[in-house]
This record gives sequence, structure tokens and C-alpha cells, in this order.
Amino acid sequence: MNTGMKVLKFGGTSVGSAQRMKEVAKLIMDRERKIVVLSAMSGTTNTLVEISDYLYKKNPEGANEIINRLEAIYRGHVDQLYDSSEYKQKGQELIRGHFDYIRSYTKDLFTLFEEKVILAQGELISTGLMHLYLQEQGVNAVLLPALEFMRTDKNGEPDPVYIREKLENQLQLHPDADIYITQGFICRNAYGEIDNLQRGGSDYTASLIGAAVQASEIQIWTDIDGMHNNDPRVVEHTSPVRHLHFEEAAELAYFGAKILHPTCIQPAKYANIPVRLLNTMDPTAEGTLISNETEKGRIKAVAAKDNITAIKIKSSRMLLAYGFLRKVFEIFESYQTSIDMICTSEVGVSVSIDNVKHLNEILDDLKKYGTVTVDRDMCIICVVGDLEWENVGFEAKALDAMKDIPVRMISFGGSNYNISFLIRECDKKAALQSLSHALFDE
Ligand code: ADP
Ligand code: ASP
Ligand code: MG
Repeated sequence: MNTGMKVLKFGGTSVGSAQRMKEVAKLIMDRERKIVVLSAMSGTTNTLVEISDYLYKKNPEGANEIINRLEAIYRGHVDQLYDSSEYKQKGQELIRGHFDYIRSYTKDLFTLFEEKVILAQGELISTGLMHLYLQEQGVNAVLLPALEFMRTDKNGEPDPVYIREKLENQLQLHPDADIYITQGFICRNAYGEIDNLQRGGSDYTASLIGAAVQASEIQIWTDIDGMHNNDPRVVEHTSPVRHLHFEEAAELAYFGAKILHPTCIQPAKYANIPVRLLNTMDPTAEGTLISNETEKGRIKAVAAKDNITAIKIKSSRMLLAYGFLRKVFEIFESYQTSIDMICTSEVGVSVSIDNVKHLNEILDDLKKYGTVTVDRDMCIICVVGDLEWENVGFEAKALDAMKDIPVRMISFGGSNYNISFLIRECDKKAALQSLSHALFDE
């Protein structure tokens, strides 16, 4: 299905108030046919998680208090969003419906299944409100129910064939619409139950839809003017990167650049659809274009990923005899724990992981093969750009910036696009600042 449409995704802050919703509406009302993916209004998913937490703890009073508070906030949004009393009433009814539904889950057994239903309400509400607003403005907009086409398979991975087919059916039901609005984040799983694509997963929805309809472009609209060359939450004076290769963007997203969900790159890359990161607060800013093109000879950006644990296995015996690494990796595989970084030497191997759910079992198993040590509260710093091995000088520059910081591991040569350092979390800020200074200060 080559629709040539654009897919535009607006994140939580972009639709975080009635005023912001109106600004988004203005941005999308240009009569160009498009698919618009919305997140829940900012703070909503976190609040729904909090409500679920009370229900897991069998405290329906605690849950109800938060439900009432959130509902009151939404009543205020409705009041500000619509002009006419007719639409104000429609909006209030929509809110009432969703909140009554949430309340109906406070009475019985509460499991992961019920939590997912509750988490889905955020996106269902934001898209419902936007759809009504566009109708009030006389726009020919249609609501596409994500729960009818977005689906994961038995491994929890999106099912692209199903998504394409069902989405096509949905689009064909409304061939004359100008704007299709749909929910980010939410889906059904292989058993038909309501599920989601993990926190921050609306970006993933947008790229899955983009790939399914062969979109001309996928736009991720957020609250900053594109991917910055360092984490703006940690370092001052960062600046936007104009162009990234898909692989550079994937490394940055995976290693902590929150502006993009790491899963979102792959579908766009395989379908070769450019992804543009744009700023709802400053719509004319250039943003960042992510495509299959590389800019030679440039370091683009730095990102950091927290909560990393390093494990070293040291053995004087059979280490690095063939088969040893396989045994080590099999242990991680058997506990479904993926490894981020790996460094080897003649006497030992170090790996880093971020999922410590099975750490104790992993350590027990590894002890069969050598002496095991663990370093917690570590952080991966990832420097991304054209880091092909034949380019001289870039690794040295990055290393030099780390000269005052204790470095636990270094990884280079795994791809053409990055060099990574494992350091203590408490040194993260100093490392990011020093790298910005060394790599990007003119
Ligand atoms: P949304 O709700 O629109 O999905 P997010 O909060 O998920 O927005 O992502 C945008 C935020 O990502 C920015 O406000 C910024 O603080 C953060 N961020 C972290 N690293 C970067 C980076 N390298 N470039 C731009 N933004 C970044
Ligand atoms: N609303 C979901 C979340 O907060 C999905 C998203 O915003 O991308 O995680
Ligand atoms: Mg996000």
C-alpha cells in the first residue's frame, strides 16, 4: 500500500493542554492527507501507572482519589478546548465514559491484564478529544482505532503483515477523510488482549504505521528542535544535529537519547522512509532528518544510558579457549538478558547488562567458569558519528576527553558509528560535559 501520506506523531507535551491541542490541530489542518498518531496528554500514563499500583496493592480508596483528581483535570481541559456547548457536552461525556470504565476496574481482582487496559485509556482519551475538536472545527477527520490493527505476535514483536492488512481495511472504510487520527502506544497481543508497545512506544507506533502505508515521511513532533548533540537534561548549550544516519539515530536512541524510542528506527530504516524530528513549540525550526545517508568525517552526538551493571569473569584456565565465550553467552541467553557492551582479554571477559532481573542466577552460573566480579551503578557513554576505523583522530579525541574519568570498559569497532565507554554513574555529568567541550566547542 503506497499511500505517499505522511505520518505525524505528537508526544505527550505536544498535546499536554487544551492550548497545545489547538496548536497541534492548526499544524495538521493543511488539507494534505495524513495519519496523525497521538500520545496520552503528558503525565497521564504515569498517573495511570500510579492508579494501577494502588489497585495491585488492593487499595481502591487510594486509586479512586487519584482517578477523581485526574478526571477533574480532564474536565478542565474539555472546558477550555471546545467553543460550543454542544462539543463541551460531547467532550464531558467522552471523559465520563473513560473514567467510569477505569473505576469499573477498582472492584475486582487486579492483574497485568487489567493494568494494560487502564494504561490504554490515556491514548484513547487524547485521540477522542482531538477528533472531537477537529470535528468542531469542520475538519474531515476520522478516528482509526489502533486496537483494530496494531498487533504483536507470540514473541511480543509487532506483526507487520497483520498491521498492514488491517490498517488498509480501516483506511478503505474512509477513503475521503483528510486526516486520520490514531492512538500511539496501544495494541493487542497475539491473544487479542489489550497490550502496549512499552513506555514511550508511540514513536514505534508511528514508524510501524509509516512502514505499513509506505509513508513519504515519518515526523516525530516533540518539545525540542530535534536530536541534540548531547543530553540537554544534563549538559548546557547543546545544539541540534541536522542530519543523522538511521544507525547513528538507533545508537543514540538505544543509549539514552530520550527524544526517540529505540525501537522506532528499525521499521523506518527497512522501509527506507525518512524520519524527521520536529518541535511543536517552534514548528518552523529545521529539526533533525534521519535517513540512509551518512555525513563523512563528523562526530554527531553523545548520549548516556544509566543503570548499567558490569560483570567480569576471570579465569586462568580455559579462558578464550574456543567455546568459552559461547558458554558465557548461553548463560545470558538462558535468562533472556541481553548484553550491551563486551570487552575481552586473554585472562578475562567483561560484559555490561541493564536488566538485572536474573542477575543472581546469572552470577551463580558464571561462577562455574571463573572468578566473577560485579560493578553496579554504572553508565554507558556513547559517542556517535562517522567512526569508521580508517578515519584517524576521532577515537583519540573522545578518549582524551575522558582523561580525568575512571573508565571501566571501552568498546570500539562493533559498528562504523560509535565508540562507547563504561563509567560510574556518578561521573556521567562530568564525562558528558567534557565530551561536549572536546568534540563540539568551536
Ligand atoms: P515526547 O513526550 O514528545 O515523546 P520525550 O520526553 O519522550 O517527548 O522526548 C523529548 C525529550 O527528550 C526532550 O525534552 C529532551 O529533554 C530529551 N532528550 C534527551 N536526550 C536528547 C537529545 N540528545 N536530543 C534531544 N532531546 C533529548
Ligand atoms: N503514553 C505512553 C507513555 O507515556 C506512550 C508515549 O507517550 O510514547 O509511555
Ligand atoms: Mg517519547
